[in-house]
Amino acid sequence: CGIVGAVSTRNIVPVLVQGLERLEYRGYDSCGVAVYAQDGAHGGGLRRARSTSRVSELIEQVASGQVQGTLGIAHTRWATHGAPAVHNAHPHFSHGPGADAHQRAGRIALVHNGIIENHDELRAVLKAKGYVFLSQTDTEVIAHLVDSLYDGDLLEAVKATVRQLHGAYAIAVFCKDEPHRLIGARAGSPLILGVGKDGQEHFLASDAMALAGVTDQIVYLDEGDVVDVQLGKYWLLDKAHKAVAPAQRPVKTVL
Ligand code: GLU
Repeated sequence: CGIVGAVSTRNIVPVLVQGLERLEYRGYDSCGVAVYAQDGAHGGGLRRARSTSRVSELIEQVASGQVQGTLGIAHTRWATHGAPAVHNAHPHFSHGPGADAHQRAGRIALVHNGIIENHDELRAVLKAKGYVFLSQTDTEVIAHLVDSLYDGDLLEAVKATVRQLHGAYAIAVFCKDEPHRLIGARAGSPLILGVGKDGQEHFLASDAMALAGVTDQIVYLDEGDVVDVQLGKYWLLDKAHKAVAPAQRPVKTVL
C-alpha cells in the first residue's frame, strides 16, 4: 500500500515512520520499518519492527533506539496474500538457503506494493533451493528471489528478479552487504525518487506526499523503471534496463 525508503548519513528512522504517517490516510492493516544497523552485537545487520496496530505504535517500538540506521525502508500493508499479522507485515527479509535458515539473519530486506501473480511457481522453485518461508505473502518470494540471484551487486540481482515477476509491483530493497545502496523498481504501482536538500540523501516513496517537509525535489519513475539509489547519486534504467538520460526523468519541484 505505502512505501518509504532512504539512503542518508543521519539516522533515517524518524523520516521513514513520519512518511508512513503521511500515507496512513490510504488505509492499511499493518506497518513496519527495517534498517541496516552498523553496530550490532555481531557486526552490522538487519533490524526490523512491525505492527498490526497504528503507525504510532510502530513509533513507540522504535523509540527505544534498537532500530536505527542510515539506510532503511518502511511500509504500510494492505494484505492481498496472507492474513493481516505481524509475520506477514513488511519489510520481509530473505531466509536461506539451508536448514538453519530461519535462525540466521537474512541479508535482503524488501517492501512491496501490489500483487505477484506467479508467486506459487516462484515459491516452489525457491523452496527446492532451500529457502525457508516465514510468511504467507507473495512479497516474501521476491525477497528470496533477490537473495538467490545476488552475487555482490544488488542492482544486477533486482534486474534479474523483476524479469521473473508477473503482476503489479513497486518495490524498495536493500542488502546488508551494500549498506549505502537502495534499489527501487516499479511496474503497475507508483514509485517516486526524492532528492534530498543536500543532494546527498535520497528517498524512494509510493507517493511524493510521504516526503513532505523532507524534500520537494521529485523524479517520477516510468512504468518498468529500475532505480539505483546511493549517497550523492542515483542511476535510472528504463523498462528494457537501458540507462535513462537525466533529461528523460527530470527532477520536478512539487508544491
Ligand atoms: N501483496 C502484498 C501483501 O499482501 C502487498 C500488499 C500491499 O500492496 O500492501 O503483502
